[in-house]
Amino acid sequence: MLKETEELLLKKYGIKREIFELSKEVDKDIKDQFERLIEIREYNQLKVLNAMQEANLSDNHFNWTTGYGYNDLGREKTEEIYSRVFNADDALVRPQIVNGTHALSLTIQGIVRPGDEILSITSAPYDTLQGVIGIREEKGSLKEFGVTYKQVEFLEDGNIDIEGAKKAINEKTKLIMIQRSKGYAWRKSLNIDDIKEAIEAVKSVKDDIIVMVDNCYGEFLETKEPTDVGADVMAGSLIKNPGGGLALAGGYIVGKKDIIEMISYRLTAPGIGKECGLMFGTTRTILQGLFIAPYVVSQAVMGAIFCSRLYEKLGYKVNPRYDDERSDIIQIVQLNNAEEVINFCEGVQKAAPVDSFVTPVPWDMPGYKDDVIMAAGAFVQGSSIELSADAPIREPFNVYFQGGITYDHSKMGSLKALESMNIL
Ligand SMILES: *Cc1c(COP(=O)(O)O)cnc(C)c1O
Repeated sequence: MLKETEELLLKKYGIKREIFELSKEVDKDIKDQFERLIEIREYNQLKVLNAMQEANLSDNHFNWTTGYGYNDLGREKTEEIYSRVFNADDALVRPQIVNGTHALSLTIQGIVRPGDEILSITSAPYDTLQGVIGIREEKGSLKEFGVTYKQVEFLEDGNIDIEGAKKAINEKTKLIMIQRSKGYAWRKSLNIDDIKEAIEAVKSVKDDIIVMVDNCYGEFLETKEPTDVGADVMAGSLIKNPGGGLALAGGYIVGKKDIIEMISYRLTAPGIGKECGLMFGTTRTILQGLFIAPYVVSQAVMGAIFCSRLYEKLGYKVNPRYDDERSDIIQIVQLNNAEEVINFCEGVQKAAPVDSFVTPVPWDMPGYKDDVIMAAGAFVQGSSIELSADAPIREPFNVYFQGGITYDHSKMGSLKALESMNIL
């Protein structure tokens, strides 16, 4: 490290000497982990580049249309490129999809009909989806429309209960849900091999069952994606991994042609589907973001590894550990109490390029059961591919640390969080 950097950290950023020395040890401990990440990044970068070249992406695709948006070339090109990258027949990539929850909600609602059953084989889905399904009562949930729901818990060892999943399928089961990332749960993230095995197992019971994967936070962690190993449809948020930090809003859904068509009828109107809908000039940032996403994701993962090792060295329980395999960008650190959680998030906020001077406070965020605190000083509001930390204020006081457009910044976030906790 340059002498100038050391001085900046200690003097300008107020990092204590003890924390600084600890961080140098962490650097040494983790450096061997980066080789594999760089190999994956290189592959994914070439995959994305190839998709753009094969689609003949050109400057005129960055223009925008008006009105109905028929034949919007930029939109069509964006969806073609997403289809190619994720090895799917078709895609919906739209700024009108307001977030990941919306993308997933559209996916489910496009597929199921009254009398159908949804089966989640990865325990309870992400908090916000529980309202969509009706696990938690919300107006207009699928439960109101006569769609039933079942879930299969994970095995003790954190793997999918394949036998349990097969047994839970009945004649009503239309849709199988798999959540790749841990979300707000202390579990391992599923890797692509786990997902492949589960898909094959459920399809062996009923071959016309539709498998959807919540791919939030998982894109570009491995060389394959769920749609490469049999998922019929998957969805995610553009202000997470695949937007590369540049996409200003939106969600994506990729999958089989007929399934994307059904979902598109839910997105716009039956009979209209994906033929309409403006991109409002967002194709440039969506595609440039996708272009740099493999790189950005690798930076975020490096930052997560640093965070994991730093807090583990201080005796905290972390998930995953620094040398574990990863299939999402999330790092969980289990803190001791609500105060530590709040201090940690305040520290991450202090490391932000935007709004570093504000203090995050827990609030009753729509769609979540408990109060949630979020540290996010991002260029794009709520973007969690940018450095962010969040935590529901509930036992066991897990804080979720993710993102970082650059590794150096993510590292700064971990250090400021520690500084703010005032334990060294
Ligand atoms: C982020 C996330 C979602 C969707 O969240 P939004 O905030 O609506 O984008 C869904 N599932 C998982 C696992 C997530 O991490």
